[in-house]
Amino acid sequence: FLRVAGIDKHFGSFQALSNVTLDVEAGEFVCFLGPSGCGKSTLLRIIAGLERQNAGTIHSLDQDISDLPPAQRQFGILFQSYALFPNLNVRENIVYGLRNRQLPASEIDSRLHELLELIDLKGSEKKYPAQLSGGQQQRVALARAIAPSPRLLLLDEPLSALDAKVRVHLRQQIRDLQRRLGLTTIMVTHDQEEALSMADRVVAMRDGEVEQIGTPTAIYHTPRSLFVAGFVGKMN
Ligand code: ATP
Ligand code: MG
Repeated sequence: FLRVAGIDKHFGSFQALSNVTLDVEAGEFVCFLGPSGCGKSTLLRIIAGLERQNAGTIHSLDQDISDLPPAQRQFGILFQSYALFPNLNVRENIVYGLRNRQLPASEIDSRLHELLELIDLKGSEKKYPAQLSGGQQQRVALARAIAPSPRLLLLDEPLSALDAKVRVHLRQQIRDLQRRLGLTTIMVTHDQEEALSMADRVVAMRDGEVEQIGTPTAIYHTPRSLFVAGFVGKMN
């Protein structure tokens, strides 16, 4: 579904990514896992088209999308800080990505209500972001990212700004939603427990390189290196 091949990225003389190659299957939930600074966000931004790689290609289905601008990739993106538009209410935030589609109002309404139900926020469409908790805001941001039916959902530490209890609850919600929609998803996290509990496959990264790719069970029980063993073993 997505094929990332031979990606290099440097910032000046610093090599942020070296020869990163990986595949994502349709409908799969993949986590990029690794310590701070290992290049997870840079790789996600390159896949999103927000950053240009120095070498390598990205294919989606059989199309080379390496040179497509972000909007044409039709990926949904959600970052750590929810960054909803504070002056728009929940409804306006969620339907924001549909504004150029010339959809009839009734269709936008039914899409909105479907999404509000999915994120468990029915009846909140008139509220403003400041009237919502952090977890609720992040759910609205998630609905906004999936409203235009993206081909691929990219999540960068979407839960890390939330307190532990909300975080664990939202893990489950995101996973349920992703399964129900069959939405191919990549999530970046430095939290080994989050990656192991959510992912179909984990991409373990170190210093800009892919160290191991495997199911949570494989990564946990048969780590390929001491680095992976140490990093994944540190469960908290
Ligand atoms: P974290 O878990 O802290 O978010 P990360 O794995 O997402 O870390 P990246 O943000 O991808 O890490 O950064 C990888 C490396 O590239 C870091 O050493 C960072 O300092 C460097 N880097 C990232 N963006 C830039 C930039 N625009 N200019 C220079 N260096 C950068
Ligand atoms: Mg990051």
